[in-house]
Amino acid sequence: MKKPSEFKDQKQSLPGQQSKMKPEPEVIRKGYKGSGKLKNKVALISGGDSGIGKSVAVHFAREGADVAIIYLSEVKDAKDTKELVEKEGRKCLLIEGDLKSESFCKKALNQCVKELGGINILVNNAAVQFPKNELTSITAKQLQTTFETNIFSFFHLAKMAIPHFKAGDTIINTSSVTTYRGSEHLVDYASTKGAIVGFTRSLALMLAKDKIRVNGVAPGPIWTPLIPATFDDVTKFGQDTALGRAGQPSEVAPAYVFLASDDSSYITGQFIHVNGGEIVGG
Ligand code: NAD
Ligand code: MG
Repeated sequence: MKKPSEFKDQKQSLPGQQSKMKPEPEVIRKGYKGSGKLKNKVALISGGDSGIGKSVAVHFAREGADVAIIYLSEVKDAKDTKELVEKEGRKCLLIEGDLKSESFCKKALNQCVKELGGINILVNNAAVQFPKNELTSITAKQLQTTFETNIFSFFHLAKMAIPHFKAGDTIINTSSVTTYRGSEHLVDYASTKGAIVGFTRSLALMLAKDKIRVNGVAPGPIWTPLIPATFDDVTKFGQDTALGRAGQPSEVAPAYVFLASDDSSYITGQFIHVNGGEIVGG
């Protein structure tokens, strides 16, 4: 697939829908060959209906895993993910609901364990963002929604997954380049993404004795539904990176495969920066 550096003007509202994007993001590149890296593992992916999470679901399936995906309400995108996973010969469990609720997180985790026989990989990936140019425009309600979705849900799902984990199992958390370089219009969002870095490093230390690894991915600008759903002008999205274009989900998901598999067996508490060449620390 040719990777576009310029996008047509388009606007959606949250949660965005992949099926309405022009062009639709690339989920997996044509030549990607699986090699059984995640054979018979079970993964739970929040926000697995679209964007990065969808791509992770399909890559994991190609590597031999069954997946459960949690999504807010985007039935069409979720069904499409299920179809793509099943084409890889793996199971896909769809779980619809609001991750802001701890009881829903518990229900989702239990459903995954019950229907897929356990959990080996937790990908905490769902998020929202509401760009605001002034701090005074960030209401207490927005702050709460952003933190409950972007970081509280990560705590809830991890807490409930850990009792099911055994040595070799992993957690992967999605952060963002915005927390490493700051973002003048995503102050609350970037704060949650920073919290995810602290959460990941600390949980990695806490779980090291059990041989459970915890890592993360910090994407730069990636062409997903979140973008037309939250930014007014997407036409030049990603052009300010060193590589001069936005990334596709198909270029991010392989980092999750690496962190989920034994290929990264000596790596914990770390982030992979899939961001088109922005040099950031940590
Ligand atoms: P996306 O819109 O495809 O995925 C986000 C998903 O989160 C949605 O599909 C939605 O179903 C889910 N979600 C949101 N609120 C929810 C709730 N309350 N309950 C249940 N599910 C909920 O967008 P994406 O860009 O693929 O986002 C995935 C992750 O990547 C996010 O953590 C985002 O912050 C991060 N990220 C994205 C970019 C980018 O440029 N796209 C850059 C850096 C980080
Ligand atoms: Mg979605």
